Parts: sequence; structure tokens; C-alpha cells
Amino acid sequence: MCDVLIIGGGLSGLQVAAGLISQRLKVVLLEARPRLGGRILGLPGVADEPLYDAGPAWVWPDLQPRMSRLLAALDLETFAQETQGRLILQGAGGRREEAAQTFASAPASMRVTGGLSTLVARLEAQLRSVDVQCDTVVTALACDGSGVCVTARCGSGVRRYRAPTVVVAVPPRLVAGWEFAPALPAEAQARLAAVPTWMAGHAKCIAVYPKPFWRAAGLSGQAFSQVGPLGEIHDASVPGHGQGALMGFFTWPHALRKERRERLVQDVCAQLGALFGAPAAVPTRIHIHDWAAEPFTATAADTRPLHEHPVYRPLSWRGTRWEGRLLFAGTEVAAEQGGYLEGALAAAERALAQIRGTMGP
Ligand SMILES: Cc1cc2nc3c(=O)[nH]c(=O)nc-3n(C[C@H](O)[C@H](O)[C@H](O)COP(=O)(O)OP(=O)(O)OC[C@H]3O[C@@H](n4cnc5c(N)ncnc54)[C@H](O)[C@@H]3O)c2cc1C
Repeated sequence: MCDVLIIGGGLSGLQVAAGLISQRLKVVLLEARPRLGGRILGLPGVADEPLYDAGPAWVWPDLQPRMSRLLAALDLETFAQETQGRLILQGAGGRREEAAQTFASAPASMRVTGGLSTLVARLEAQLRSVDVQCDTVVTALACDGSGVCVTARCGSGVRRYRAPTVVVAVPPRLVAGWEFAPALPAEAQARLAAVPTWMAGHAKCIAVYPKPFWRAAGLSGQAFSQVGPLGEIHDASVPGHGQGALMGFFTWPHALRKERRERLVQDVCAQLGALFGAPAAVPTRIHIHDWAAEPFTATAADTRPLHEHPVYRPLSWRGTRWEGRLLFAGTEVAAEQGGYLEGALAAAERALAQIRGTMGP
């Protein structure tokens, strides 16, 4: 038995855990993957290569007060996304054009020095008093008069946990697939399943080069393509490391990526070469990370691309047996900036306030 059990060790679950460490509570955090961070993932480099962000890479500290405070508290610095130079456009017929103006957001998109996985490592280091259990896949929740019983798969075994309060910091669409006792009303289950998981259908590619050669040609590293495989490309080089890197989001949907799996790297290299010149076709390394193929992020419903940013809102169990026992965190239930890292922190803040409300300060 613990005081608070947190399910999901992404940014939101970690932030809930961090918010409880000063409260002398017995806190357990269950995470399905062998690592923490969820959608935040640094692709491991070789030798002294930097970690490239395979998930989120950008923050906007001027618009994201919680993220800004967290970065400062963890002693992390940011630098502006490189946008200097000309932009490449590739039309539907494959024709390449250059434009003088790059696309730069205002305020600027900022990257975190060391990559966002550094933030996860520093948060994790603070959680010494929390019992963090990775490789633990929650499959069922049962509620009785005194609390919640959580069933999880752990290797070939099954573990059971009990807590008066459970925080679910997992995308609602994944939660819809769990077993609930008493069973969730069909309408509540459908409501969970209808919440799209932000960016879950996407895949990201990182191509690494000996240096950012496109800069000498006056190019920003930014490109937008209507044919793909990559639809949006940015300079992902890490200052101070000498190497160059281009990061691209696939415009090809998951089904096509899967169908072309054997040739995907070749297809990407051919496109990079056509856009940025021959050296771009021969990266020293190339990584492709397909989030739609990750069972602890995406469901089959997420493989269909989203055409606009969904409106996310808090979910509650009001009026059901789960009220006060089961709390939601995670960016998909944020009241503001849902989908973004800031939303993950906003949802964690709300869950912490609810815990204080039920348990006292
Ligand atoms: C490619 C990509 C690019 C992005 N770019 C940006 C960006 O630039 N800026 C930005 O602000 N946001 C971006 N995002 C969104 C950002 O990643 C999310 O907002 C944020 O990481 C969500 O954190 P979370 O804790 O809510 O969810 P998650 O990170 O998804 O954490 C949920 C956790 O629950 C775990 N879990 C799942 N099922 C179970 C189970 N059954 N039992 C136990 N644990 C389970 C998962 O393994 C995971 O660790 C991007 C996302 C992707 C995929």
C-alpha cells in the first residue's frame, strides 16, 4: 500500500512525482517502458555525439511559464532554433524552389541544451524517495470502498498495487483499453477513446553529417515538401559539436511508411539529396523513429494523421465510483496548451492541487 500511485513516467507523471517529494508520502510510479520520459526521447549517439530529440525538441519559454520555471529549476539553458538562410520548397510535382524568407515562429522556437532528455534525467535524479518501477505495464484498475487496486504486467508475472489515490498520466486513448471494475460506462470509455494523442501518428528522422554543409550555401536547413517522404525539415545541429544534423517530420502516413519500410532510409536520403544537394544523400548516420509503432504512445486510431491541433480539456470521474480516487494528468487532459510539454506540466499541476484537496496540504 502506498499513499499515491502514479501511472506513466512521461513529463506529466514525473512532474506529479516531483511535486509530492516534499510531502513525506509513500509514492510509487509505474512506467511501461524500460525508460522514463515517454514521448521525450534522446536518440543515443555514438562516441561523443550529442543526443538528438526524437520526440519534442522545441519550447517557447516566453509563452510557457511552467516550462520556463522548470528549465530554470533544473539549471537547463536554451538556444534558438537555427533559421538563418534560404528556405527550400518542394511542390506536389517534386519541383524544388528556394525562398529568401524562412519560416520562424515569434517568439522563436527554442531548443534545450543537451536535448530534452537531459530534462528527464535531471527530474529523475530528484526522485530518489519515489519508488520508480519501469517495465511495468498497467492493465486493470479496480475500485472498492477503501481505494484502487492496480494490476500490472511485469515480465512474465503480474503485480498488484493498492493506493487510496491513483494518478493516471497516460494518454486517455491507451487508458480506454484497460479493464475497469466496476466497468466504465460505455459513454465514459468512448470519451477516453475519442481523445487523440498528440503527435502519436508521427515519425521523425534525424540525418547526421560531418558538418552543417548547407549553411555555407546560404541555406537554413529548413524545407517544406508536398511529396515527402519528409514534409517538414529543420536544422537539428547541436552547437559546439561540429557535426551537422537535419531533422524531418514524415508527411507519409504510418501505413505508407510501413509498406515502404525496407526502402524508407533510401527514400529519405534520395529526398534529402534532391533538396540539399549530393552530400545530403549520404549522412554518416540516419535514425528514423516511428511513434505510431510505439504501443505505449499510439493506438491504431492514432495512425490516421491529424489535420489540426485538437481542443484538449480536463477529464473527470465526477459522479462515478472513481471520483476522488482516480485523477488524470498528461498533456491530453490539460486545460491549457494541451498536446504540448507545457500542457503536460499544467495537467500535473492540476492533479497535484486535487491531491492536496483530498489529502490536505
Ligand atoms: C514527434 C513528436 C514531436 C513533438 N514535438 C513537440 C515540441 O516540439 N514541443 C512540445 O511542447 N511538444 C511536442 N510534442 C508533444 C510532447 O511530447 C508531449 O506533450 C509530452 O511529452 C507529453 O507528456 P505526457 O507525460 O503527458 O505523456 P507521455 O510522454 O506520452 O507519457 C505517458 C507515459 O505513460 C506510459 N504508459 C503508457 N501506457 C502505460 C501503461 N499501460 N502502464 C504504465 N505506463 C504506461 C508511457 O510509456 C509514457 O512514459 C511532440 C511529440 C512527438 C511525438
